[in-house]
Amino acid sequence: MKIFTVIGDPIVHSKSTRMHNNALQVLKKDAIYTRYHLKNKAKLKEIVQKFDGANITIPFKEEAYKIADFCDESVKQIGSANTLINKDGKIYAYNTDYLGFLKAIENFFSIKNALILGAGGTAKALAYALKSINIEVAIANRSSVRFKNLNNYPCFLYDQLDLNTQFDLIINTTSAGLHDESLPCEERILKNIFQKTKYAFDVIYSRETSFLKLARENGLKIKDGMQMLLWQGVFAFELFLECQKTEEIYKAMEMALKLP
Ligand code: NDP
Repeated sequence: MKIFTVIGDPIVHSKSTRMHNNALQVLKKDAIYTRYHLKNKAKLKEIVQKFDGANITIPFKEEAYKIADFCDESVKQIGSANTLINKDGKIYAYNTDYLGFLKAIENFFSIKNALILGAGGTAKALAYALKSINIEVAIANRSSVRFKNLNNYPCFLYDQLDLNTQFDLIINTTSAGLHDESLPCEERILKNIFQKTKYAFDVIYSRETSFLKLARENGLKIKDGMQMLLWQGVFAFELFLECQKTEEIYKAMEMALKLP
């Protein structure tokens, strides 16, 4: 029997166990998927080696890249991995977050450029995803320290943004709104940008954030991070089990998320 896990800190909130276990059951795979609460990143490699494969979540995605023996090109470019496979004593690293995001925005049409709010690991994965389909990317954040990791993209502090620029898509990758009603930046700035924007996406999936609510009220087509979560899980499952039954995996994972 194969054993997979999701590793993070905290981990109790993770929806990956129910998504993957339902898919394993529906597809009749001889495998289980657990979760592992890791405190010390120095132990990541040792723990990963105990499993056939692992999803890696906050705050270990960058460390996951560092401990890998072989990295997918996307992992090298993004600098982080969320899916590790342990095969013949070697660790193989993939990033399915960026693939999940691309699937999630498939029904957003004619996007030429995008503004990403936030400059952390997720911003970097999404910038890479957009660039891979020839969408121009700009990044805005409340502080500039993380801009050094994003030197392929124009980066701005919020009050440096040219509010006359038109962005077809605006994406919130900050944690603002995850547990409260805060916005990633001043409402005035968002309202100005929204006037010329078609689509808004938020990577947060547990609730409608103030960012998405404001975008909806300003007439934008909106989407939260649920589809991204689902699709990153589907792609990870395909890698773990070397199984291409994409539609069945998706349906099983979607069903698992609807359960109370
Ligand atoms: P990081 O810690 O790497 O980056 C967080 C970013 O948000 C930083 O740019 C930080 O700014 C900014 N930020 C944090 N709090 C605020 C705030 N109150 N106001 C404005 N800016 C803020 O996190 P990640 O990029 O790894 O993750 C970000 C989010 O993405 C998380 O909520 C995570 O759950 C979600 N996520 C969702 C996925 C999905 O499948 N739907 C997949 C992966 C992640 P500064 O640099 O100034 O600190």
